[in-house]
Amino acid sequence: MHIRVAHHLFTDTRFRRGFDYVNWGLVLNKPQQHPHVYEFTVMGTKEYHTSITVDDVGHLLSATCDCKGGRYCKHLASSFILLSQQKKQLYMMQPYLDIPEDFNDQVYNISIHYRNIIQTCMLALDHAKVQESTDVLFEAYEFYMEQMEWLIDHGFYEHALELFEWMMDEFVSYWTSTNNDCQEMDFFKKQTQWLDALIDASNIDPLRIINDVLLWLQLYPEMDDAVINDWLVLLSVYGKNDDLSDDLRLLYEQAKDSIEDDMTLVEASYFYDHHRNHTRSYDLDTIKKYPKIIRHQVELAMENDLLEHALTLIFTQIQSRPKYEDIPWVSLWVYIKEKQEDEAGLKEALRWLFYCGETNGYHQLKAMVDRRIWKQEVDVMLQQYEQGVFSDWTYRQLLVLEHEWDRLKAHIKEHPWFISQLNKHLIDVDPDFVYEYLKEWIHLRYREFKDWESLQPWITLFASYFSEEQGWNLVKELKEHPS
Ligand SMILES: [Zn+2]
Repeated sequence: MHIRVAHHLFTDTRFRRGFDYVNWGLVLNKPQQHPHVYEFTVMGTKEYHTSITVDDVGHLLSATCDCKGGRYCKHLASSFILLSQQKKQLYMMQPYLDIPEDFNDQVYNISIHYRNIIQTCMLALDHAKVQESTDVLFEAYEFYMEQMEWLIDHGFYEHALELFEWMMDEFVSYWTSTNNDCQEMDFFKKQTQWLDALIDASNIDPLRIINDVLLWLQLYPEMDDAVINDWLVLLSVYGKNDDLSDDLRLLYEQAKDSIEDDMTLVEASYFYDHHRNHTRSYDLDTIKKYPKIIRHQVELAMENDLLEHALTLIFTQIQSRPKYEDIPWVSLWVYIKEKQEDEAGLKEALRWLFYCGETNGYHQLKAMVDRRIWKQEVDVMLQQYEQGVFSDWTYRQLLVLEHEWDRLKAHIKEHPWFISQLNKHLIDVDPDFVYEYLKEWIHLRYREFKDWESLQPWITLFASYFSEEQGWNLVKELKEHPS
């Protein structure tokens, strides 16, 4: 995989978070020890170290981070983004497919348009085969994803299914036979959205989809267990149709052969049974490992007004530390507390929502409190921060929202990096403070970077706050006293 297309390795959320880190100046290059190894320091909850190794032309050899956030974490995403910004020239990739900007603007005949799509993808496939390089496959993959979205948005479900089939049959079978790209980038998982949309479409033959998936399970043993489970959960809706039950059962049997862990298909069989009206009872300890089942049980409990039971289910999914990915569960918690008209409980839920990183929690909390005693609520949160209940990230947000400038400055004194992120809030409050800390921070960055290009926006910002002359003085200072 070429580092120019490495963004496909990341989930959208992680990639966006990576951009934030870069924009806030929280990613620093470490001095380079080896021409093909790039190392970075990323300031998150604490300091993380990432390392990216490439060959002469920019193909990725390895990528690591010392956090526990999964193989392709947000710190690595931010490092890739910075690397591609800095080494744009060095690792330039010529686009091979000459796709016009207005490809989808004027479609008079969907059949002709569809033929053009396939031709473009075929061109990439042929090129990859001849050149023995898969970079062009990434280009075609991006194009394919855009076209799937367009076809589905415009209701061309038949064509979308055909393109999906072509991709899975022709394109991916070649790609998976050449290297591990598809697995590394979670290709199959990223197709789940299309399967979902196609199953929803009324004019698609269910049997065709069932048989497609059956074939793909046989064709791609590398398909992840979790993806197989997701796909079977989606397909379980066809269980309602008695005529399809034999075909579905065949598919489930095949899936059992393809998975490594028997527990994988618990969710899929739960939903299959549900749609066949064979609902069994499950005990909480067994099902709490399966979020889709819990989610469904929560819905059933809420329909039957069993709110306390719904809460018990929800709390099996919320972690002891506030986590961004828990927001959907915490939102349900908020919703139930509202319904119960439990004021203290609602406040607690909203605080937790905020701690997970959802600012709406803060705003909703503020809206329900008599402003004369709002400061008491803030004190509760500040105390909980002192007790280590939530992260520095949320703490900084709270200080900004509350205009707690003295506390914010004290925090920056302890973590000077964050002046890059927080200067805009403080510039009119305490320009001298921003002057001092921003300048120091730019010096620090220069020492590590030795790279004017990436420093340019910061010097421009500095000059815009203070004066053109101050900007030039800073440049002169950096050049004269680089250390
Ligand atoms: Zn990491």
